[in-house]
Amino acid sequence: MRFATRAVHAGHEPDALTGAVTPPIYTSSTFAQEEVGKTKGYEYSRSGNPTRDRLERAVAELEGGKFGLAFASGLAAETAVASILKKGDHVIICNDVYGGTYRLFDKVFRNYGIPFERVDATDPANLQESIRPNTRLVWMESPTNPLMLILDIRGIAKVCKKRGVTLAVDNTFATPYLQNPLKMGATVVVHSTTKYIGGHSDLIGGAVVTSSKALYERLKFLQNATGSIPGPFDCYLALRGLRTLHLRMEQHSKNASAVAFLLVRSGKTLSVNYPFLPASPTYKLAKSQMKLGGGMLSFRIRGGYKAASRFLKSLEVFALGESLGGVESLAEHPAKMTHSSLPPKEREKIGITDDLVRLSVGVEDTKDLVEDVTRALRAAS
Ligand SMILES: *Cc1c(COP(=O)(O)O)cnc(C)c1O
Repeated sequence: MRFATRAVHAGHEPDALTGAVTPPIYTSSTFAQEEVGKTKGYEYSRSGNPTRDRLERAVAELEGGKFGLAFASGLAAETAVASILKKGDHVIICNDVYGGTYRLFDKVFRNYGIPFERVDATDPANLQESIRPNTRLVWMESPTNPLMLILDIRGIAKVCKKRGVTLAVDNTFATPYLQNPLKMGATVVVHSTTKYIGGHSDLIGGAVVTSSKALYERLKFLQNATGSIPGPFDCYLALRGLRTLHLRMEQHSKNASAVAFLLVRSGKTLSVNYPFLPASPTYKLAKSQMKLGGGMLSFRIRGGYKAASRFLKSLEVFALGESLGGVESLAEHPAKMTHSSLPPKEREKIGITDDLVRLSVGVEDTKDLVEDVTRALRAAS
């Protein structure tokens, strides 16, 4: 089956008891047993819940993986993956990543004796040189957040495989519709379902997908042992979001691409970061691993912080806010908002400058968005 058919039907087989075509939300914390040790497959909702099961199967199916697990948030999913590590293991983070990912390794796992370093992996050979004998995990995003760099997933996976290192790809920005890292050699894919999978800015959730049985079993153990599970209502919302993922990603990509071209033509930007701009040096690479450019972009506005803040204030359709991936358009200032947990020096070094603006382009009418950005650019300069 093709993606759209799988998106509509994955995890949505009719309810066995009633035939309901919409999955029941099982709120029960516990399940009655027929006799000691004889269950209908469920005992207690931390260890297994029928609504969560559907979501876990659906995400796995759409990512092209064998096993899926759902978590209370994207960061809970990341924490589970990081918890496979032991004291003395070393982690590499490629380029810029979600601010909270950096904070998790810097302020939490480092305290447990798990050091990490940031490596520029735009050339996978550079990554190869940074891998130490105790490196256990390489963490990457592509496109990266917020600079929209495209990293060569196949190339990085090859390096990791050769050295026996687990490769985790945060696929939140691209979504399973645009990109499937497991098919390109990644060991595990992580999602914040809060974003495009949920798609309506009304839930916090996370997911992990892998085809490695051993890794799945460890992660499943950790999900239950640490209790980082999502509630059944949120599982239902994420599952519902998945059914229209393909439709939304088509419109997000169409709108973001129109806005990106406008920003380039305006003469009011120093650079525009969007994967599917033909002038981008990684355009070919982006096309080789993504179906479309997605809904995220960032740009450096002429006029520094003043112009950036005036631009953000002048937008009318785009709301000023953190987060991304919802049907509504959002704009934000990475240095002062989503990436403020990075030390200023680190931020400048990787290019998160004070004139950088990030847009999560929604699924509104293309012309209204283009007009809104045009107006705000004029007001900012
Ligand atoms: C939001 C986000 C996360 C964290 O997810 P939460 O659901 O907020 O915990 C991780 N990675 C990326 C790329 C994100 O955008």
